[in-house]
Amino acid sequence: MKKFNIILLTSTLVHLSLFAQTHTKIIDMHIHSYTESEFEGKEPDQDYYGNKGSKDAESHRLETFAAFEKFNIVKAMVSGNPESVENWVTKDSNQRIIRGILMYTPDDYDMDSVKFEQMVKDNKIEVFGETAPYYGGTTLSDSIWQPYLQICEKYDIPVAVHMGGGDPGGTYSWSPKARLKLGDPYTIEDVLVKYPKLRIYMMHAGGEDWPEHALRLMAYYPQLYTDLAVMLWVEPNTQRYIKEFIKNAKEAGYLNRVMFGSDQMKFPYAIEKSINFLKSLDFLTDKEKEDIFYNNAAIFLKLKE
Ligand SMILES: [Zn+2]
Repeated sequence: MKKFNIILLTSTLVHLSLFAQTHTKIIDMHIHSYTESEFEGKEPDQDYYGNKGSKDAESHRLETFAAFEKFNIVKAMVSGNPESVENWVTKDSNQRIIRGILMYTPDDYDMDSVKFEQMVKDNKIEVFGETAPYYGGTTLSDSIWQPYLQICEKYDIPVAVHMGGGDPGGTYSWSPKARLKLGDPYTIEDVLVKYPKLRIYMMHAGGEDWPEHALRLMAYYPQLYTDLAVMLWVEPNTQRYIKEFIKNAKEAGYLNRVMFGSDQMKFPYAIEKSINFLKSLDFLTDKEKEDIFYNNAAIFLKLKE
């Protein structure tokens, strides 16, 4: 009888946790989209664990959409080339997608500030990011980025900025101007000073390189948020850093500005892996996990229920 009760209890618990799992709402602040022509090359085709990415851009979109469905991801900040983002939006029947734009240099996609402002007015850019000046050899504080940031402040468009390094070896191949020092969160300090009303979040906190600088910057500038992104899944070493970062952010009292993001790149399976990793952190309460998965981003994005 006792044994039976235990089995019953266990199955009830499993049932309850499955129930909770399907009902936790998630906002993913860091999703990547691609066009077919850019899908190969640029980023590695295989991850650290030897897993291959999706076979093409359309399978990648379908697999990512399936993860949105499966894990109750109700909003996703999608960054990519504007053509791929628009393609995703037309296929998104649930209004999940928040339109981002991936930019390494201010003239990607032949962009200039006039075109940019028009896209903002037309609702084609809802978040300015992922901006990744690191890969193009600049920082967001450089003069070339300022016209865009002024527009973002004027229209209250949130900015997302890549912090920390990139894929090892990238400097020898597709991003020759990338330097680790360009990923230091302190490089955006001038932006925070110049545009105090700008909504802005760091992507990947400070990476493996600068977690302390990321925290210190969040302490000094209370408007600054961060996502967790690729750190949640890409290597055991990044997981070690981000676990420590989250623990420190909790102890310091800044956890309410930490947001979930998966940064799946070509590997949609990483969405599930990131969610599971965050759920497994036993020093976080259920409420803190819910805040990171949804509430903090909802506040940052000014989402209306
Ligand atoms: Zn990214």
